[in-house]
Amino acid sequence: MKIAENLQNIKNNLPENTTLIAVSKTKSIEEIMEAYDAGQRVFGENKVQELVGKQEKLPEDIQWHMIGHLQRNKVKYIAPFVSLIHAVDSVKLLKEINKHGKKHQRNIDCLLQIKIAEEESKFGLDIAEAEKILNSEEVKSMEHVSINGLMGMATFTDDTNQIRKEFGYLKKEFDRLSASYLCLKILSMGMSGDYQIALEQGSNMIRIGSAIFGERNY
Ligand SMILES: *Cc1c(COP(=O)(O)O)cnc(C)c1O
Repeated sequence: MKIAENLQNIKNNLPENTTLIAVSKTKSIEEIMEAYDAGQRVFGENKVQELVGKQEKLPEDIQWHMIGHLQRNKVKYIAPFVSLIHAVDSVKLLKEINKHGKKHQRNIDCLLQIKIAEEESKFGLDIAEAEKILNSEEVKSMEHVSINGLMGMATFTDDTNQIRKEFGYLKKEFDRLSASYLCLKILSMGMSGDYQIALEQGSNMIRIGSAIFGERNY
């Protein structure tokens, strides 16, 4: 009951044209079904094995988003069904996604992950690197992969000014790039703790886990 209620509360305050991804990592089939029965159809996972296991057991009309770091050797497991890959950070990975998209005769939508947090993180591109990928002839020639937008994660901090600054920066760069790269439509930013700020800064896709399903026990 709580899950449906949490979902409703979040949806009540969402601007139009915002996609809410229910991040179900570590959560059970039963918990996911509770969200499904409340009408939720878009779910996100950050581990390939868990994503594949859940996809097999759950209804076919769920759109599954891979929101975590993706290793090239695991693309093949999610290529048949994944609806959006959020954390692409190299041409090599795009090449692999394109290869498996071709194998399954489908186009796979992707976002480029931009590093906006101050924390040391291994993943994510800076804007210049992202632009280089968008400009690359090799990437433009890939027929089974599309780059539809950008994704970013703010620093994990209580300092709302810093979070606002990081999301604001990404939105500004998103607007600049999407003026020349018309394929860029999605700006994925905002999690349970910071999605209000992300929306205020212009996010149109939020990834919410604990505010829907409760805290995770690893
Ligand atoms: C876990 C996760 C989320 C959701 O986190 P919550 O704080 O539980 O909302 C969002 N994005 C990514 C990439 C994640 O790994």
